[in-house]
Amino acid sequence: MTAGKFISAIFFIELLKGLSLTLRTLFTRPVTRRYPKEKRPVQPGFRGLHALAKNEEGKMKCVGCGLCGAYCPSQCIYIYTTEGEDHNKVVERYEIEVLRCIYCGFCVEACPFGAITLSEHYEYSDYSRDAFYMTKDKLLSNWDKYFAGEKGKRYFKNFWLPRSDNFTGYESQSVFRRTGSRK
Ligand code: SF4
Ligand code: SF4
Repeated sequence: MTAGKFISAIFFIELLKGLSLTLRTLFTRPVTRRYPKEKRPVQPGFRGLHALAKNEEGKMKCVGCGLCGAYCPSQCIYIYTTEGEDHNKVVERYEIEVLRCIYCGFCVEACPFGAITLSEHYEYSDYSRDAFYMTKDKLLSNWDKYFAGEKGKRYFKNFWLPRSDNFTGYESQSVFRRTGSRK
């Protein structure tokens, strides 16, 4: 033990420091909020419940490329695709096990089509695990609930990088082409 630490231990310096902090803050306004009566405003770009984005025609933007699932560190995104009539991928199922999600936002960043989003909604406690297993239909309805109108359009412009415009890959690379850009 060094001399400084010894003196500190003898005279309870750390304890006195703690008590002085208590005294200094004793008559200041408490910072505790009476949640759920008092709620803190959600900051822009907050990472809450997931939603699958729709385009202007109201169709799902996801093409089933699987990049979000590949990037997800929790491996909680499950995508099942089949082949459509014109040999395009058809997203049969898109599911997220929300209880395993750590809200890192990698899925949003990885998606070149702006198809997966994290909404501002965070109050979704429930009594059953099934309620936290988000199916494609639930995720699409989350878009209608939390990203209606201009909110959905602003989402990618303001908070998320990289944007489709940041990709400089060949036009022939389907994953990076700009035609599916985020709007
Ligand atoms: S936010 Fe992170 S952990 Fe959650 S689904 Fe997306 S990539 Fe996975
Ligand atoms: S990265 Fe985007 S387009 Fe690809 S599967 Fe995920 S959500 Fe769909």
